[in-house]
Order: sequence, then structure tokens, then C-alpha cells
Amino acid sequence: MKFNVSGERPLIDDEYVGEPAKRALQYIQSKRQRGFPVVGVYCGYAPLEIIKAMEATIAVLCAFSNKTIRNAEASLPANLCPLIKSSYGFIITDTCPFYGLSDVVVAETTCDGKKKMYELIRDIKPMHVMDLPHVPDEKEAEQNWTVMIRKLQSFLEKHLDRKATDEQIEEAIKDTNRKNRKMNAIFDFMARRPPVMSWQELYDLTFLAQPSTAADMDDLLDASLAALGRRRERGVFYGLHDAPRILVTGCPVAGDATKVFKIIEEAGGVIVAIDSCTGMKAYMDEIEENSPDPVAALARRYLKIACACMTPNVRRLTELDRYIERFNPDAIIDVVLHACHGYNVESHKVMKHVKEKKIPFLHIETDYSMTDSSQIRTRVEALLETIR
Ligand code: SF4
Ligand code: SF4
Repeated sequence: MKFNVSGERPLIDDEYVGEPAKRALQYIQSKRQRGFPVVGVYCGYAPLEIIKAMEATIAVLCAFSNKTIRNAEASLPANLCPLIKSSYGFIITDTCPFYGLSDVVVAETTCDGKKKMYELIRDIKPMHVMDLPHVPDEKEAEQNWTVMIRKLQSFLEKHLDRKATDEQIEEAIKDTNRKNRKMNAIFDFMARRPPVMSWQELYDLTFLAQPSTAADMDDLLDASLAALGRRRERGVFYGLHDAPRILVTGCPVAGDATKVFKIIEEAGGVIVAIDSCTGMKAYMDEIEENSPDPVAALARRYLKIACACMTPNVRRLTELDRYIERFNPDAIIDVVLHACHGYNVESHKVMKHVKEKKIPFLHIETDYSMTDSSQIRTRVEALLETIR
């Protein structure tokens, strides 16, 4: 940790610093022991409030480790996104504890690779595939997604033998909003120049908070806000005072792919915002409260997610503008996973938009192996040289 005052404690000060997946696993196991069913999810579009309304626990099944890729490639094409290969590899080798703990699995029709992977695992555990509208601004999209969320509710009620009333769904919406407000108060410390917290702390908190309830996160988030406030008062900041501020956008980045974050930091940059599903994306907006139909409110909020599987994904740029205004980056790095066609194609549009704003831009296509680390390092160093 590169705080300007030695001995600064990380926000999550236990054996799991930098290992949020292990902490998340401990959380799910303890919930399961107390009788909560577990629902596995694969995507930012999974309407978590329906699951929480049934007092079920959420396990994120997307995998970010290189170690199961080789097993997956025995039956999947090598030229496929590493997130899909890693996730599938864990399942076929029976080594994913999150999948093992899941009673049922929720999936969405996002990208082609994921859709085909769901076909391969559909007979292992009860699985419900949600038909995601891909043209989010069509007038039928909200109505169709509302129907799909209601269908998910029926599936979960049947398989978990639990009910979710509209009042319980409304409570879950309010719980998410309460948690997101605290997360945004934490993000404000990243918006400061220089930032008051590290990318690792941000990453750990966003990873843990997304599937958790506000009540389960309250202690950690309150303690984090208090610690950040104390750092600010004492003039503590992260990195060098004039370090280039980097906004990372693109595909979900976690586990072995965080090599890119480490390289940015080692090259002298500070990451001040992460615009992805493993970063800040899930927290940036609130869900409408007290609407006549809480499920329709969920549909509206989830359809706002700016994923490259949507067309046209106009919100990608408007969301990016919000990040730019709030976090004031000196450069933007678009991190895209190999063979993720949606984000790769979209990168050109993002580059054009960013360059019009005279912000330096770098596109990195990578996977979970370490073989391209030196090449990424050279390119990141060259980018940062143009800023200093
Ligand atoms: S990037 Fe898109 S497909 Fe991937 S988790 Fe996020 S919303 Fe889902
Ligand atoms: S990173 Fe891209 S290809 Fe991989 S699962 Fe997500 S949307 Fe699909």
C-alpha cells in the first residue's frame, strides 16, 4: 500500500485483504449454515432484489482465474472469452465452491458465449435463463423485462419454496439504495485529488457489497467511511501527490485480470474509478422507490446498465461522461477481455469519444494469463509518459 503516511491500515483489515472472493465465500457459507438458500448469478442484469426479497443469499459465479482455462478448452474453443472459459472450467472440474453452494442458478441472454455455456451446464443444477431485451430503448423492452423478472420470481418461489411479496421486493429495493448511497459516499473519496483510498480497497468493497444486503455491509461500510474521513482530516492520500489519475472502463476485471491494475499502479498511475460490472457500475444509480409496480421499477433500473451486449449502447458514453466529470481522470484505459466482441467493437467508439475530449486513451485486450504483462507494462508506461 502506498499511502503517504506509513502504517496506514487498509479499510478491510483482515486476512482477506485483496482476497474478496474468499471473504465472500465465508459470508455465503455462514448464511447457508443459518438456513438461507443460495442463488448463483452470472451477470449485472440479475435482479438481485428479487432474490433478497426471498431472504436468499447470492453467489456470484463469474470466475477470474487462469487455472481452469486449460480444462475448459478441452470442450470450448480456445478463442473464447476467459471469463466464460474460467467459469465453465471450475464447473466441469467441480472446483467452484460458489457453484457448489448454489441451490439454483440464474442466467441471462447477454453475449453469445455465455448463452452457449448455459446450455452446457443446464442439466447440472436447476437453472433459469432470462430473455434479456437487447434494444433497451424500445418501448416494449421495459414491459418484456418486467415479465422476465416476474418469471424469475415464479422460478425461485417454486425451487426455493419461498414467496416474495411486492412489499418485500420494495424493502429489498430500499435496502439496495441505502447500500448504494454509502458506496457512493465512499466513491467520493476516490474523486478527491489525490485520492484517499487505493484501487485494491475500492475493488474489495465493490466485490463484497454487490451480492450482500445493506444490513450485512453496514458495519464494514460505516467503519470504512469513518476511516476515510480520518484519512482526509490527517491529509493522508494514496499514491504520489501528482500521480496520473486513471479511469478504467470495459469488461469485468477481477482475480488474475487485476494484473492490469497492478501494472498501472507500478507504472506510477492511481486508479480513481472503475467503470465495469466488477467496479462501480452496479452502484451508480438508485432504483425508484414506492413505484406502483416495484418489479417494473427494477426492470427500468437494470435496463439502464450500459453493457456492450445492448444495441445501440448509447448509455456507455453518457455514463462515461458522468465518471469523467466526477472523477476527473487524466487518462482512460479500456480493458477488454480476449474474444469479447461486444466490448472490443465498442472500444473504437469509446476511443473517439474520449479523444474528442482531449483525454489520452489506451485500449488493452487481455486474458487471465501473465504472458502479455510486459507488453501491457510498456504500453501503460508510454501512456503515462504522455501525461507527466
Ligand atoms: S459486462 Fe454485461 S454481460 Fe458482463 S456481467 Fe456486466 S452486464 Fe453482464
Ligand atoms: S466479458 Fe464479454 S464475452 Fe466475456 S462474458 Fe462478459 S460480455 Fe461475454
